Amino acid sequence: MKVLTLPVGQLQTNCYLIEDSGEVGIIDPGDDGDFIMRQIADLGAKPVWIALTHGHFDHVLAVTELSLAYNIPVFSHPKDNFLLKDAKRSAEYFLGVEADPVAVETESLFEGTELAVGKVKFEVKVAPGHTPGGVCLYNEESKSLFCGDLMFKGGGVGRTDFRYCSAEDLKKSVKEMLKLPEETVVYPGHEETTTVGELRK
Ligand SMILES: [Zn+2]
Ligand SMILES: [Zn+2]
Repeated sequence: MKVLTLPVGQLQTNCYLIEDSGEVGIIDPGDDGDFIMRQIADLGAKPVWIALTHGHFDHVLAVTELSLAYNIPVFSHPKDNFLLKDAKRSAEYFLGVEADPVAVETESLFEGTELAVGKVKFEVKVAPGHTPGGVCLYNEESKSLFCGDLMFKGGGVGRTDFRYCSAEDLKKSVKEMLKLPEETVVYPGHEETTTVGELRK
């Protein structure tokens, strides 16, 4: 399994490309669709799905472009559908730029849903708080956790100051993820990777 980290868009959101056995899974294509597609072409691998850790605009703005270009399914938690519908407006409000609407049908993710890329299997772990439909993707074999904006290197956690957030849920979600083995590599939605062991301190 190979992981490529691509910081995209004004907020430098981490889009992750996960390649294994000639297939590639795309996590959080936040913007810069052309750039992401060039990286995929360089990998020479076949895209199989797009998965969203949550529905915030900075994680989803290139979803429509990529899903149409590759004709692949987009997976997200249904509780964040309202954010996907609002992504264009939010992007325009927060970034002051014109954005494309997220105009694709999404497939639902739930606790325990499995997503495969090549021989690698990811398990969905629900992680609400930052948004109601936040999820993490976990691969047990390589001990990799893609956690979106749940938690960050240095011990920061996702913001919970919007009306739909829950600081209490976020706390529970973080606690749950920190039960994973300490060598688990944590790939957050922004900035650098860390490990469960580092975050427990
Ligand atoms: Zn977010
Ligand atoms: Zn974010």
